[in-house]
Amino acid sequence: MPTVPQSRHLATEIPGPGSVRLAQRRTAAVARGVASTLPVYAARAGGGIVEDVDGNRLIDLGSGIAVTTVGNAAPRVVDAVRSQVAEFTHTCFMVTPYEGYVTVAEALNRLTPGKFEKRSVLLNSGAEALENAVKIARSYTRKTAVAAFDHGYHGRTNLTMALTAKSMPYKSGFGPFAPDIYRAPASYPYRDSLIDKDLGTDGERAAERAIGVLENQIGAHNLAALVIEPIQGEGGFIVPAPGFLPALLAWCRDNDVVFIADEVQTGFARTGAMFACEHEPIAPDLICTAKGIGGGLPLAAVTGRAEIMDAPQVSGLGGTFGGNPVACAAALGALATVEAEDLVGRAQRIERAVLERLSRLQADDDRIGDVRGRGAMIAVELVRPETAEPDPALTKALATACHRAGVIVLTCGTFGNVLRLLPPLTISDELLAEGLDVLADELAKL
Ligand SMILES: *Cc1c(COP(=O)(O)O)cnc(C)c1O
Repeated sequence: MPTVPQSRHLATEIPGPGSVRLAQRRTAAVARGVASTLPVYAARAGGGIVEDVDGNRLIDLGSGIAVTTVGNAAPRVVDAVRSQVAEFTHTCFMVTPYEGYVTVAEALNRLTPGKFEKRSVLLNSGAEALENAVKIARSYTRKTAVAAFDHGYHGRTNLTMALTAKSMPYKSGFGPFAPDIYRAPASYPYRDSLIDKDLGTDGERAAERAIGVLENQIGAHNLAALVIEPIQGEGGFIVPAPGFLPALLAWCRDNDVVFIADEVQTGFARTGAMFACEHEPIAPDLICTAKGIGGGLPLAAVTGRAEIMDAPQVSGLGGTFGGNPVACAAALGALATVEAEDLVGRAQRIERAVLERLSRLQADDDRIGDVRGRGAMIAVELVRPETAEPDPALTKALATACHRAGVIVLTCGTFGNVLRLLPPLTISDELLAEGLDVLADELAKL
């Protein structure tokens, strides 16, 4: 049981005096480019609650961006970290390796989709996983071009900025970007349907449109890899039309293009399956993971077909901290929690509860253009009713109102008009329902 009381409680205004003092120090010390969604400073967290330095307890519908899927300070994670940190904190896997790294790799090879022989490499962040997946695909195919998709988000390093679609705030002013990166149209059922009903429901047609661009603008003989999120995260929780991902994978197989699934946000039970690719179902060549893997500790991985993963030369992959022993211990604690507490099943139950509530809300409020997502990864797209034009101002106002009322929600979307919910899977039914009630009340007031 979490030590933080499991109830929403507003002790002060949001932000309270303690957070205001910290914000003043922060402005003088922290680079302005690093922004925060809420103005409150965390003191402790667990279950479905984040408590701030003023004693305010907020309902957590964000999980630190899909990271604390197993809950904050989850007991198995805390125990595993405590014992590892007392044994040794670092030797560097490239100097004197250790068992935890190997055990995490074995677990990833076993849990990821695809009944073929696999290998894994461990890294520090989602962006670093994507960087390495591209290195591996180029090494294997001896080709250089890489394609990503509209609305895609893959990180903030130079190569991953090139893969990421949205300019503001992720890329603007930070170029030039890595060369030989291209972009294809994604499947966005809600917005595609506004143009052409079939395109919104028929994933194979949406894939044909994308493949046309790939063949025309790059050529399969130049293309090393296709990089895609099975459900787009930052781009707006966009679930592609059925058939889109399988058709792209089939095309990759026919053309010796490595299919890289970016499951950094969707992985580890978040979507009501261990990995979002299982919903299709598809078995990608390489899978990038991070966020939810380590119960809050920084860890990331690339996992995939042995013959592809083993293409780079010995010493071609690695990094000082990649697969840090404490982060590996945390990951094993997190994975044990997912299995022992059937968090995949829990995510499915959260999906039913959230979709039911939000669909009722949508029926009475035509500013909600779309409700979508899977598992504990559900969003509403807010629009101007007559035109379905994105309404980022309403979205921002709703998020801020929720924050003031003690509920952590996040926004996303290419057009900034998507309110997304990513509760930890350890949240109680009562807190989840209360969080959704606050959302409904605040929307009604706007
Ligand atoms: C967050 C995210 C990344 C980047 O991960 P970092 O750990 O922030 O580098 C990459 N891809 C997706 C889909 C993400 O959601």
